[in-house]
Amino acid sequence: MGVKTSLEWLSSCAGCEISLLNIGEALVPILTEHLEIVHAPVIMDHKYYGQCGDQGLHLQLPEATVGIITGGVANEEHLEVLEEMRKKCAILIALGSCATQGGIPALMNGQDSSASFDAVYRTPSTDPGAVRPNQIVPQLFDRTYALDEKVKIDLQLPGCPPNPAHIAEVIISLLENRPPNLPTKSVCDTCPTRREGKGAVDQVKRFVENAEFDPAQPISEMRCLLEQGFVCMGPVTAAGCAKRGAPSCIEARVPCRGCYGPVLPRGNQMLDMMNALASNGIDTKSVVDRRSMLRFSGAHGNLRPKKKVAVKEEA
Ligand code: SF4
Ligand code: SF4
Ligand code: SF4
Repeated sequence: MGVKTSLEWLSSCAGCEISLLNIGEALVPILTEHLEIVHAPVIMDHKYYGQCGDQGLHLQLPEATVGIITGGVANEEHLEVLEEMRKKCAILIALGSCATQGGIPALMNGQDSSASFDAVYRTPSTDPGAVRPNQIVPQLFDRTYALDEKVKIDLQLPGCPPNPAHIAEVIISLLENRPPNLPTKSVCDTCPTRREGKGAVDQVKRFVENAEFDPAQPISEMRCLLEQGFVCMGPVTAAGCAKRGAPSCIEARVPCRGCYGPVLPRGNQMLDMMNALASNGIDTKSVVDRRSMLRFSGAHGNLRPKKKVAVKEEA
């Protein structure tokens, strides 16, 4: 029998599960010989109530050695499932930036939650008079949380989605009872672009502008995109996406958007990036929306609603 493994998805888009499948042929022996999947709503019909023999009175999941969870915690049901996974799994892995840092769903953390609910449920194109659902459906939280804000997590594997090779490494290292060999540096540390040590401009360039490069030349001949004036988040983002020698976005000649989250788990990509821009001689006031630098790491209290500024009435 293989290692009992339980998979769960909370506030997630299933991209992490696709990345798991993208391990490719190497996944076949892992699934057929080494793992015994005991619960995985994404691929098998497994109920939360009644499947473990308590007559369906409580949400109950089977015991497992390894639990892998994607997605953050955005509502009461997510929390209940997460706590049950923690109770039943000896080792709990947070897979993907939604699970490790809140990811895309935590973009909502930047606004007042009632404004978000109104935007979804009471729009001119739906029913402006509709009420926010408050029965039968799980209640949404005021914000989206990373898993480690709610329970102890044994291993974090960020990425939106994570690199399939690293998912395989985590699984294989567990089977071999050794620590996984994962990247620890920043995207810049894996980037081959040409750096001259000082930025070429003092204002940020917008993403709609093309970077300067010669498509006939290798990436090592392209000047660093941050030095060209783009908000390339490489200095403040964890490495891991490079599959063919350069970070994925740099390979496509576009700036890093920060999808692997901060280099250190509790780092703040926005604050660190403002420092990186200033060090490159870029006027930080030219950044139009600095909070967008937290687009993948809004949990842990990083992204919060803007404070309302009181407007004085004229006498
Ligand atoms: S980390 Fe990215 S790919 Fe994974 S669930 Fe979140 S949004 Fe989807
Ligand atoms: S800032 Fe961007 S382009 Fe420059 S080295 Fe870092 S990842 Fe590469
Ligand atoms: S370059 Fe940045 S945004 Fe692009 S895949 Fe890598 S970590 Fe994600």
